[in-house]
Amino acid sequence: MNLPLPAHTAAAPVLSNGNPAGRRRILKAGVALAAGALGVGCGKKETSGPPVNPGAGPGPGAGPGMEAANAGAGVQVESGKLWNLSELAPPPDWEKLEAWQETITADDFRYLLEKVLTDGTSFWSTVEQRPDRALIRMSTAVEASPRFELRFAKESKPNAAERYWRKMSEMPAPASAERPLEGVRVALDPGHIGGDWAKMEARWYQMESASPVMEGELTLETARMLRPLLEAMGAVVTLVRETHDPLTSQQPDKLLAEARESLHVSLGAAVLPTDRQIRKEAERLFYRTSEIRTRGHRVNEVLKPDVVVCLHYNAEAWGQDAGKPLFSKANHVHVLAHDCISPAEFQNDDQRWDGLMRLVQRIPDEEIRLCDAVARHLAAATGLPPYTYPGRNARQVNDNSYLWVRNLLANRVYHCPVVFTEPYVMNNQEIFDRLQAGNYEGIREIAGKQRFSIFREYAQGVADGLAEAYKAGRPT
Ligand SMILES: [Zn+2]
Repeated sequence: MNLPLPAHTAAAPVLSNGNPAGRRRILKAGVALAAGALGVGCGKKETSGPPVNPGAGPGPGAGPGMEAANAGAGVQVESGKLWNLSELAPPPDWEKLEAWQETITADDFRYLLEKVLTDGTSFWSTVEQRPDRALIRMSTAVEASPRFELRFAKESKPNAAERYWRKMSEMPAPASAERPLEGVRVALDPGHIGGDWAKMEARWYQMESASPVMEGELTLETARMLRPLLEAMGAVVTLVRETHDPLTSQQPDKLLAEARESLHVSLGAAVLPTDRQIRKEAERLFYRTSEIRTRGHRVNEVLKPDVVVCLHYNAEAWGQDAGKPLFSKANHVHVLAHDCISPAEFQNDDQRWDGLMRLVQRIPDEEIRLCDAVARHLAAATGLPPYTYPGRNARQVNDNSYLWVRNLLANRVYHCPVVFTEPYVMNNQEIFDRLQAGNYEGIREIAGKQRFSIFREYAQGVADGLAEAYKAGRPT
């Protein structure tokens, strides 16, 4: 089945939020065109986790570019907390923004902050925009927190030396049209973990005596299929995870204190959690938080790619018993870029910092171009309809019904463009049949249709999307 794809060309303006001519208009209209001008808003978000106080690390002290909000008032520490942080987040290093002084214009900053990074209502209590600078609250845990002062540029400057990733437009022209990814550093991040870990993560089900379906193993197999396709086009490919094992050394046994603290916040001080609750919470912090933060660290500090592709398989609710899963008639595909930070999330000091680090580097612009192309090619390769988010935690962008922005840990902490892919419903009957068929060469009939293996189909869609984006974005 070939679905009608949204009319769009790679050369069309990005970040238009559904209105190709919208950017200029929004820039001029400024605040009068706040939330609502873009259609779908994203004020509410699923979970950002309770704030935790690490009780260690440097406080929000003044440094270069950091201006005390109330000079002379000093820093008041409320209930011993210096930072308001997401789960297992290190305190933000605000000095890293120093390298971005006088690189972004006031108009660009306002547009990206209001229309892209957030829903337009999230930042007023933490970012004060003046004509020549923004004053950014460094901590929301401290009443008189120092402000980081980010000075604006008269004209936008790329400041490429201060980021590890390269824009498509900054790369040299490829030697031949057949190798559009020549020299592009691509990190493939197979989502989740495999083996016994998949059960703990609840990304595992088994239908009677058939092979168990484990998302973390499917994503690694997909990465292994994708790698040679990208390398054939000249890419330099690394895998963020090469085995079924986790990268983090913080396994659940090492996270019991953090689990107790997290439950203290979520259940309330009056409730004493059971050992089982503490264990479950420690497991969740291990696979959902520590593992992703560890991958973010590896990407930002070791691999330093031009783009990360986070590979996932979607699922619909399959019930409580993974041994007797419910099948869903639904089957769909979508691709996520970062952004759409909710007001509550923007109050977290680390999320505000991550978002602003991505903003000053102009990651959203590059990321949405890449995600847009991959979304259209994955839609064509799979023939699946788009997934539609029912809530306000995601926002559709770029006139592309397959492309959404959403604030996930796994795309926020990577300080480079991230293409986050979510095709196929694993507990759809046809997808189950295709997964049971495994990986194979050529075409086979499955569920009444001639098909490539699901891994090849997925990999080809991503590879074609990246090829199109880089062909359009690199110099010729
Ligand atoms: Zn996933």
